[in-house]
Amino acid sequence: MTDTIDLEIRELLQNARSIVIVSHIRPDADAVGSLLGLGLPLLAAGKQVQLVLQDGLPEKYAFLTGADRVERSIQSGFDTLITVDCSDLKRTGSVLAGLPAPDLNIDHHQTNVNFGRINLVEAEASATALVLAEHLPMWGLMTDAGAAQCLLAGILGDTIGFRTSGTDSKTLRVAADLMDKGANLPLVYRQTLLSRSIPELRYWGQGLTKIQHEGPLLWSVLTLDDRIKAVYPENDDADLINLLSSVSGLLVVVLFIQQAPDRVKVSWRSAEGIDVSTIAFEFGGGGHSAAAGADVEGSLDEVVGQVLKRTKQLLADF
Ligand code: AMP
Ligand code: MN
Ligand code: MN
Repeated sequence: MTDTIDLEIRELLQNARSIVIVSHIRPDADAVGSLLGLGLPLLAAGKQVQLVLQDGLPEKYAFLTGADRVERSIQSGFDTLITVDCSDLKRTGSVLAGLPAPDLNIDHHQTNVNFGRINLVEAEASATALVLAEHLPMWGLMTDAGAAQCLLAGILGDTIGFRTSGTDSKTLRVAADLMDKGANLPLVYRQTLLSRSIPELRYWGQGLTKIQHEGPLLWSVLTLDDRIKAVYPENDDADLINLLSSVSGLLVVVLFIQQAPDRVKVSWRSAEGIDVSTIAFEFGGGGHSAAAGADVEGSLDEVVGQVLKRTKQLLADF
């Protein structure tokens, strides 16, 4: 059944001639996969499309069709603006500064603040790419093998290879459909989840030496200096948080990634039943119950102090 919102989106896309699609800073597989997974079908439908990631495309996603089209800023005029996998406008960085609200906000974060004119937000979906895979046909758009592979990358990234608690049978059915359309699951799995560079491992090494824990709470920090020493080219955590989360017996893991002398990215992961998105939201960020993040102003020591204090309160209430 096609809902009213799908009819509205179909009309928006049919009338659009020149579309800008934007996703979030420090892009992950779902950001990149959703950006390309929507962009490629729109290009195939004859639209002009600009794909924008403020931090550019991480090298590990260069194998995806359309990866070479990603720009760091909007290059020319457009009539339609879409964001994917962003719970608020700040997540896009500053590329949309001074522009009117997006026409369409497609996302799956429970903390989404519905900042678009049309908001397609499905908080129970395991990835934004999954939302797209399900809705594209209702908008009259075709998913070819290249687009299917991008969408599968998004789903694999956010479910960490079908193993997060949000991985439901629908996720597997949609992934199977994407494989039938030509997506190569082993290739996408290897590229998005297994393949590592030596700088990434060195960077992990820096973080691993600084692990601290107090009962069921574990945390670590990655400083700007660690990034320079490891010669790590991105500004994310290189997925170190997933490795830290593999320690058994923990309830919450927190990772602090220094972005500037006065700004720290915080990542939380939690066991089932502990909602860290509420704390992330309090610190100006957002996310899901079991995986959330925030960009917090302050020195590393200040942010570590404030965030650990609040996280311990949450654990005490548990
Ligand atoms: P991360 O810890 O960056 O892997 O992100 C975990 C989850 O929280 C993802 O769903 C992100 O989209 C979300 N998230 C991370 N950082 C922020 C932020 N600064 N604002 C809003 N949501 C965020
Ligand atoms: Mn994302
Ligand atoms: Mn996502």
